[in-house]
Amino acid sequence: MARLSIVLPSYNEQQNIARTHQTLQDILTQAGIEYELIFISDGSKDGTYEEIKRIAARDPNVKGAEFSRNFGKEAAIFAGLNLALGDAVIVMDCDLQHPPKMIPEMWKLWQEGYEVVEGVKNSRGKESLFHKLAAGGFYRLMSRMMHIDMAATSDYKLLDRKVVNVLLDLTERNTFFRALSFWAGFRSTKIYYDVQERAFGESKWSFGSLMRYAISNVTSFSTIPLQMVTVLGVVSIIFSLILAVQTLVRFLLGDSVEGFTTVILLILIIGGFIMLSLGIIGHYLARIYEEVKGRPRYIIRETTGDIRGNVNGR
Ligand code: UDP
Ligand code: MG
Repeated sequence: MARLSIVLPSYNEQQNIARTHQTLQDILTQAGIEYELIFISDGSKDGTYEEIKRIAARDPNVKGAEFSRNFGKEAAIFAGLNLALGDAVIVMDCDLQHPPKMIPEMWKLWQEGYEVVEGVKNSRGKESLFHKLAAGGFYRLMSRMMHIDMAATSDYKLLDRKVVNVLLDLTERNTFFRALSFWAGFRSTKIYYDVQERAFGESKWSFGSLMRYAISNVTSFSTIPLQMVTVLGVVSIIFSLILAVQTLVRFLLGDSVEGFTTVILLILIIGGFIMLSLGIIGHYLARIYEEVKGRPRYIIRETTGDIRGNVNGR
């Protein structure tokens, strides 16, 4: 019989684990789906992993792993995909903000032959206005660059074993899970859901971490910023040609522009352009540097029971 794996990245979610486990157990048993729950504790500082161990000891359908430190949600998702044995895998947040009642429906779509079932947000739930605007802007930008409509997508999705294997075979380290399922292709469909409110704890995202996430995602998925450097160069060459002709003409006519103001302004503007361009190139250089080093994406410190799969995320 086909089996479903559910991957739940968890970072400091001690209070959520038991409740999430209970909710999922109820829903999956009722729907008659054979399943396993894989909790990946992303180097949590509270008792998240102890909680996972406690539940795994009682319930054979639960397994878990603990990272040696916080590696981020992407790493936790990939560790989960690596440990999953199911014929289909669902990735969802373990704070129940992704409504688990959609699971039977996703499972049904998978049985009908869809290989990817994308969870699409109807509403973004409770967020600050600033967060909404920033996320909206980021997704519009990403959608333009990648030619994929990202606005409503989330990490809540079901993947067929074939798709999971494709993602696991990727050698890159800076992944963007949300977009990779589009990139991989396959027969996909969408399912709409409303983001629930978080019951315990708080969102792990600060403004700084969101910015870093955004930049690393853009640079790992698109080279358009690099092309923008070229555009910037072309624009300033055209500008300087016009200015050069104007300056020469005025010099020959005997009324050349004088004073330092022009010179200083030009140096400042061009200096700004150059440094901005170097910064953009630097981001890509950093990506290449990280990829070339080939360090593991995550390191697993401990697992519940005997788990098959590699433990150092290569
Ligand atoms: N998470 C993680 N590692 C991190 C940050 C978050 O595994 O470094 C997990 C977290 O436990 C949760 C999911 O990712 O299950 C989404 O995080 P959160 O609820 O904080 O984000 P939000 O729902 O506010 O986007
Ligand atoms: Mg959440």
